[in-house]
Amino acid sequence: MIIRKKFRFEGAHIVRNCTSQRCRENIHGHSYEVEVFLKSDQLDNGFMVMDFVLLNNVAEFIHSFDHSYTLWDGEAGEVKDAIYRINTRVAEIPVSPSAEGYALLFFFVINLIISKAKLVNGEGNVKLHAVRVHETQSGYAEASAGDLNLVRFTLQDIKFNDGIKREWKDKMWWNQIEAF
Ligand SMILES: [Zn+2]
Repeated sequence: MIIRKKFRFEGAHIVRNCTSQRCRENIHGHSYEVEVFLKSDQLDNGFMVMDFVLLNNVAEFIHSFDHSYTLWDGEAGEVKDAIYRINTRVAEIPVSPSAEGYALLFFFVINLIISKAKLVNGEGNVKLHAVRVHETQSGYAEASAGDLNLVRFTLQDIKFNDGIKREWKDKMWWNQIEAF
């Protein structure tokens, strides 16, 4: 069975090297919707695939991008310096922040979070099925396990600055994920 939880964030970016001049040359924002699909071969004691309360770290991860500037680590040094100077919240990532880039990055990280989640209520073999990132009302990108061969980065290449970290409820959660 498949279940889906939807998250939202308001994010700013530039998508370098894309076809549209507006997107590649201007800082702009989107109201993102992120759909996280989970799959299991059985149901837990409450007849659920997995209680959504177990997705705390997934929520913290996605909300780290809310009202943040998402900075591609391939940006020019002078752009990076300016972004860090004028923003309190910056997430620096190893992929360009297109919907496809987000979907791949989010699948990679959420897959790690889910695979290490402590399941205590008779859940089955719960797996991340897909992550769908809607950048606009009409378009989305979806990543699933078959796309992990596109990953050319590690968790250590994802950097949240102090402005993001100090709003985390559990300051240690990212270190625990990294320790996996
Ligand atoms: Zn955009």
